[in-house]
Amino acid sequence: MLLPQRLRPRQVPETSLDLLLRATPLPTVVINPSEWIVAANAEALKMFSPEMVGRHFATVLRQPQVIAAIEATLADHGEHLARHKLGSAEQDAPLDVTCRYLETAGPGRPGAAVVSFQDRADMEHAGQMRRDFVANVSHELRTPLTALIGFIDTLRGPARDDTEARDRFLTIMEQEASRMNRLVGDLLSLSRVEAEERVRPTGQVELGALLSSTLSSLTPFAETNGVALTVALPEYPVLIPGDEDQLRQVFTNLVENGIKYGGSGKEVSLSIQLCDRDPALRAPTAEIEVRDKGAGIDPIHLPRLTERFYRGDSHRSRQLGGTGLGLAIAKHIVNRHRGRMKVESEPGEGATFTVILPR
Ligand code: ADP
Repeated sequence: MLLPQRLRPRQVPETSLDLLLRATPLPTVVINPSEWIVAANAEALKMFSPEMVGRHFATVLRQPQVIAAIEATLADHGEHLARHKLGSAEQDAPLDVTCRYLETAGPGRPGAAVVSFQDRADMEHAGQMRRDFVANVSHELRTPLTALIGFIDTLRGPARDDTEARDRFLTIMEQEASRMNRLVGDLLSLSRVEAEERVRPTGQVELGALLSSTLSSLTPFAETNGVALTVALPEYPVLIPGDEDQLRQVFTNLVENGIKYGGSGKEVSLSIQLCDRDPALRAPTAEIEVRDKGAGIDPIHLPRLTERFYRGDSHRSRQLGGTGLGLAIAKHIVNRHRGRMKVESEPGEGATFTVILPR
């Protein structure tokens, strides 16, 4: 419903109000003391109705809490807050509504209630992620801790004088303590890497030398697991801008996974390919491929593999001493280098992780 011209009040100069509203990023609505909507910015028109100006506010903003807050502001000229639920499926978090009174200059000139709506969905989402993360870390630490406490009790009680049992339990306790140590180490790495994610690396890295030295340091681990490591490197140096320690961590994590999940008697191979222009990164790149011939990964797990604590096979990962953080750390490091990481796998045929870095 549109107000007749004579009823459409002009408490504040239209131009300055319009300009102010246009510059306001939050959906904002101005309501006069007669309870009519006299102005709204494009964000508000989009959120509620393109025909809202000129209507009684309660016909547009129908929720009792919001109506009460606006009425209170118009009555006492104070600030009042409310929550507005939009109710559509993709917008579950309610909007925060703030009603403030706009005093206008000049005696006898009525002011207006300015009502703004703030979407808190991102904050709610971030809060949920933080809660999930704390719950995951607590759960991951609790399992080895419970085992340690149990074995301490047993060693004090029933196994007190049993030398053989004591040695066995101490070995398990050592494994559980190492698991906690690895978890804490990975958590610290993750927080460091996240903190630096927006800072561009300043060093220069020669990829061939980096991959050779990463493989040398993993050779004992590969031998213990009965896995052969092979590498195909170009004969010329491949220089990229990067942080050497962080990139070493990426390839260590990927090759370690290849060894762990590839399985005994199999091979993990590494290669570098140069590409003149990667279509997604729009830059010349180096593509480093880490390929194993293990059981591979079920396609349903692929999209979530780099989430913290996400494991394709929880039991197997824990059995192999995994923390569930290796790929999350790798992803953050690759992001910091403005690169990308892709995973391809055919169950039964092994997995290939490719890190694509701009040169
Ligand atoms: P984890 O410490 O569990 O190995 P990661 O973050 O390194 O954690 O890997 C996440 C999950 O991805 C693993 O639990 C495993 O299920 C799967 N995964 C990673 N690399 C491989 C691989 N080469 N072959 C099969 N599965 C893999």
